[in-house]
Amino acid sequence: MPRGDGRLSHDLDPQRPGPQDACGVFGVWAPGEEVANLTYFGLYALQHRGQEAAGIAVSDGTGVVVYKDLGLVAQVFDEPTLASLRGHVAIGHTRYSTTGASTWENAQPTIRSTASGTTIALAHNGNLVNTAELQRESGERALAGDGATSDTSLVTMLLASRPDLSVEAAALEVLPQLRGAFSFVFMDESTLYAARDQYGVRPLVLGRLERGWVVASETAALDIVGASVVREVEPGELIAIDEDGLRSARFAAPEPKGCLFEYVYIARPDATIAGRNVHAARVQIGRQLAREHEVEADLVIPVPESGTPAAIGYAAESGITFGAGLMKNPYVGRTFIQPSQTLRQLGIRLKLNPLRENVRGKRLVVVDDSIVRGNTQRAIVRMLREAGALEVHVRISSPPVAWPCFYGIDFATRAELLANGLDNEGIRRSIGADTLGYVSLSGLIAATEQPKSRLCRACFDGEYPIELPADSLIGKHVLEGVGRRVTAETPEPHATPFVAAHSGYDAFSSARVPRPDPEEPKNHIR
Ligand code: SF4
Repeated sequence: MPRGDGRLSHDLDPQRPGPQDACGVFGVWAPGEEVANLTYFGLYALQHRGQEAAGIAVSDGTGVVVYKDLGLVAQVFDEPTLASLRGHVAIGHTRYSTTGASTWENAQPTIRSTASGTTIALAHNGNLVNTAELQRESGERALAGDGATSDTSLVTMLLASRPDLSVEAAALEVLPQLRGAFSFVFMDESTLYAARDQYGVRPLVLGRLERGWVVASETAALDIVGASVVREVEPGELIAIDEDGLRSARFAAPEPKGCLFEYVYIARPDATIAGRNVHAARVQIGRQLAREHEVEADLVIPVPESGTPAAIGYAAESGITFGAGLMKNPYVGRTFIQPSQTLRQLGIRLKLNPLRENVRGKRLVVVDDSIVRGNTQRAIVRMLREAGALEVHVRISSPPVAWPCFYGIDFATRAELLANGLDNEGIRRSIGADTLGYVSLSGLIAATEQPKSRLCRACFDGEYPIELPADSLIGKHVLEGVGRRVTAETPEPHATPFVAAHSGYDAFSSARVPRPDPEEPKNHIR
């Protein structure tokens, strides 16, 4: 039976709500600790960055084992599975697909063995923009073997294709060839590695445990395992951690262009990016929004949960009362039961419900983080009016999203973006609001306390900091169409036995190992 993936995705919500996140990565080197358990909790803290698949690779010094499957972290792993993943070094991943379909093969960590017998497991947050070029250059060997069609699998292959070099030396050769956004954690039998692209588009932080080291996409994943924050992995830096300690090397000169959208929506509010707490930044964005778009109203309400800090800021700056007007049904997507057609037609109502007593007869300011296609905001405005709101004034804590992201966030195609075809008045009419106000780009940037030159703002202003190839060579399914026959039967998520609960064993070396029958006893394959 297909199962819920934890989000109101296409399957559950035909009005697909908004930007999809781009993966969370975690790595730990800690002899004497239960590294698989630490990774599990780290991934738990990063679940918001990807809900399609989860996986953990672990090594005890003699071999690397991977366990991965489609689903949420809590659906993929149980106690017996974690107990079987023993070792002193581990990496983990929560996936939302940006290159390669959402199939079991594309779940991460990916794994490859070198001809000299070293096994490499790798997890990736971000998206490469020269995947097709890399694949062409590396030929058929790139995708032969594991059935994966992700840029991550390609990088793992490239790292494993230099048996004459140590993994560290191979990484210093391969990483400069990659173009795009990448925060990698990877490992071999004994060493944990972390690397971040020279632009530092996606976050990656280094933390310290009493008896080891941790790397993670966000500081919240360090907090949950009791690690203290040491620093960010620098753009263009490769870190290696083993029994000899921590080594750092540069593979490219840093040119920081951190993702501005992390501050708006992607990162957890309790994360700190480039020294700026995300919650504080969002409150500040809300204050700025109130200064730029004031309105007479009775109540400021957030679209939960990502609109909450900005709504707090808007209320504080405007003096209008802050309150709840929409309740989230937090577990609706986390079900094994697929909704009937009737329920699907309810769309956003599956996810949000109005607090009628709070909104009836009120002039509302509704604060949300972004408008992508506009379907969610249109449904919310209609729902609030039906619940008795007198006026609905929509305030958005980011500028209009008018350009697609090629660095790891799956918004939509340019044609699907509401702000691409309409001006603000057209968007206001389209979503049915009384008034509409977006925070300015300069206001948003000021709230991050980062210089404009150190931020990627491409989805707002169309200035892409990393050169893009021709249109035909970028996109989520690029490796399914370049240099490789596309198999018509490429399985779709939730439609094949691939997603049967806990059938997702794997660990395999350079040769593909057939996936075990889910009915068979589970055995790790080293
Ligand atoms: S295009 Fe937008 S979402 Fe993508 S990296 Fe740049 S700021 Fe972030």
